[in-house]
Amino acid sequence: MTELRRIVDNVHEQQHNGMSTGCVIDEQLKTIIIKWSRRATFAGLMWATVLASASFAAGNHHVYTVQVDESLDRLHVTAHFAAPVTYIAARSNSAEQFLLGAQDCDSGERIETAGRRMATPDAGISCLSYVIDLRKAAKAERRNRSLAPDNIIVSPIVWMWRPRLGRRDDVRVQFLLPDAVQVSVPWRPIESTAHTYVLTASPQSGSATAIFGRFDAAVTNVAGSDLRIALLRSSTDYDTAAMVDWIRDTANNITLVYGRFPNPAARIIIIPVATSPWRRDLPGVVFGRIVRDGGETVELLIDPRQPVESYHSDWTATHELSHMMLPYLRGEQRWISEGFAQYYQNVLLTRAGRYDEQYAWQKLHDGLERGRTSVPEMSPNEATGADERNSRMKVYWSGTALALLADIELRGRSNGKKSLDTVLGQFQRCCLPSVRTWTGTELFTKFDSFLDEPLFMNLYRQFADTPGFPDTNPLLGQLGIVLDDGKVRLSDAAELAEIRAALMARIYTGAPGR
Ligand SMILES: [Zn+2]
Repeated sequence: MTELRRIVDNVHEQQHNGMSTGCVIDEQLKTIIIKWSRRATFAGLMWATVLASASFAAGNHHVYTVQVDESLDRLHVTAHFAAPVTYIAARSNSAEQFLLGAQDCDSGERIETAGRRMATPDAGISCLSYVIDLRKAAKAERRNRSLAPDNIIVSPIVWMWRPRLGRRDDVRVQFLLPDAVQVSVPWRPIESTAHTYVLTASPQSGSATAIFGRFDAAVTNVAGSDLRIALLRSSTDYDTAAMVDWIRDTANNITLVYGRFPNPAARIIIIPVATSPWRRDLPGVVFGRIVRDGGETVELLIDPRQPVESYHSDWTATHELSHMMLPYLRGEQRWISEGFAQYYQNVLLTRAGRYDEQYAWQKLHDGLERGRTSVPEMSPNEATGADERNSRMKVYWSGTALALLADIELRGRSNGKKSLDTVLGQFQRCCLPSVRTWTGTELFTKFDSFLDEPLFMNLYRQFADTPGFPDTNPLLGQLGIVLDDGKVRLSDAAELAEIRAALMARIYTGAPGR
């Protein structure tokens, strides 16, 4: 492709934060949801009491009711705890400034705060009610500036005051919503009860978003997984149905690894952003990131002026969704997550027919070269902890080199029966989605447990703490990737040309639409 495209890709890499089948919910379905919420407004408290007193097998099950007012100015929250609690806190240090008041709803006594903690009585409290200044919290969130006034992003870290959660604890949160107001949160929805979700302990790779207001939402099923999509509104309209098709298409790309989508209940949010007129040459997908906090959410910032058709060949969304094939990895091992996502975005866009094979290998080759020249004095583990302005290419591409080496070795030694795809497929069955943070060695030890002869930990020991970069050039030569003046040409006469073709070949058909 063009030089411009490469520049754009580089910009994307630099911007990238290391930082359900169905259809768009139609008017009729919206109406059904609204009716449920109306019933819930007067039945909610009784329901909450029943749940709070129900006996569960293990763990503490807290019950929250969050009433959203018509104007989106306030949240009225009532919490019934499984047992009296003394520790109640919000995650954000700025949460206190959005709290309009809190009280013990049994005694009526006011509860003061000290920083991000509530000063509860020594005996603890069983019921808490508090009010949040939602409008003020929304003003503090930069992303709201480009959104319609009745679309509000406010992270739960500034409004969710709660006890600590152990592995077996959870919070059931029911939202009571006025007509036409929707909510989108990363937590697991309870199908049988409207606007009700279960919040459990999880990694906190960032701050999850909660979205309130009047926006389109869809649930689309891809290969058995329900993807919940929220499509926020700005002053520029866009074709939300076409956007949902694009998300389906992207999620289908991920199923080309092992025939399933890695997370049965992922969330995707589309955030239109205002971009300056001189940036019209940038692709429609301006930025993407995955947030693992209370569930897995991919946030995609888009320029609504760009045609959605152009999004299908953009790698950003495939990259972000590819992250779901691995669990959240501890900070200094982010090079593994980024590398695997970089590897698969190129492989999957080729399998899906969006890239031709030569273009994919050109991108892989060029990326590996950028990685090779990035902070050569550092190891991948060191580079991830370093100033990322200098080390980003090292972080993004050393894991790609490892993924490529592992994939070719697995295919070669098993006569094509095993591959990185099959290892990831086994990993998904045992371990995803994972609610905890993994280390690189835990992950690779698990991968090796699927193999007769270990591989991943050997590669980890070889490269993770070693300065320099894996030498992938001999392997690329064996695969038939020939370079003429920096331009990739594919040779079918090469020793491993069949493996190269098999790697990019499409085995799974992708999920049919429901
Ligand atoms: Zn990434």
